[in-house]
Amino acid sequence: MIGPFRGGSRGERGTMAWTRFGKKKDMPGGLWIKCEACGNMIFRKDFPGSKVCPECGHHFPLGAEARLRMTLDEGSFEEFWADMRTIDRLGFVDRAPYKEKIEKTIKKAGRNEAIVTGIGAIAGMPLAIGVMDFQFLGGSMGVVVGEKVARLVELARERSLPLVIFCASGGARMHEGALSLMQMAKSCATLKRFQDGGGFYVSVLTNPTTGGVTASFATVADVILAEPGALIGFAGPRVIKTTLKQDLPKGFQKAEFLLEKGQIDRIVPRDRMRPELARLIAYATGRDPLPLKEITGDPGGEVQAG
Ligand SMILES: [Zn+2]
Repeated sequence: MIGPFRGGSRGERGTMAWTRFGKKKDMPGGLWIKCEACGNMIFRKDFPGSKVCPECGHHFPLGAEARLRMTLDEGSFEEFWADMRTIDRLGFVDRAPYKEKIEKTIKKAGRNEAIVTGIGAIAGMPLAIGVMDFQFLGGSMGVVVGEKVARLVELARERSLPLVIFCASGGARMHEGALSLMQMAKSCATLKRFQDGGGFYVSVLTNPTTGGVTASFATVADVILAEPGALIGFAGPRVIKTTLKQDLPKGFQKAEFLLEKGQIDRIVPRDRMRPELARLIAYATGRDPLPLKEITGDPGGEVQAG
């Protein structure tokens, strides 16, 4: 275990930092990162770029850009539809007007939506790829996320490319009402056409994948992979527990539980995901993969709380 704030000279500063760690949102600024799974404090400089806890293997959320860098051959990614932005069609207001909230989120994220889509390559094999980002309004699926997924599937179909989507979502975006829910049907309809035409689709479920995303494009793939420990479900465990008024089985809705029940195909640790995808794509498409170059260095992005 790496103990927090050892040594007298650090004393008071350490205590202050410890207090700040109580708030998840304050973590990125600190010298130490507290693992939310094992509770260990890890010196920021020792924290790996993969954002996987070196003590217990807990997978921290990973931003879309870092995920793309960890997955694809260097320099192979070409983004599509980055300019697409949502409209506040309902004039929705909860604690703040949706319009303001989305503006703020876009500014903070430096990107317009909760999914990045485009084409890239793994081991020299081209693919269509979408990566969701939970840090953008909880990875919620509004009109733009649904439209980008549908367009990505169509692109994969037109160009006969395999399709990989990394999912991370709290579900449909309530601020866009029924228009969000329609994205479930739209994405599934395009996927049906893609798969009927022989298209190959791999879905990767990361923590958390829930709600309307689980109930649509996340779970209709040819191969469903998941990261270790990922929460995967429709309604969350708390809602189910309260509704059923009974205790849930141990590990309920975790990737390991779902694997045991046959709902997913395989659990793949983050640092093994790139070779696993290369293997699957080569197998499904009959292409010869180039030797897989190891991606070195930090893919970037802050360590985010789950
Ligand atoms: Zn840990």
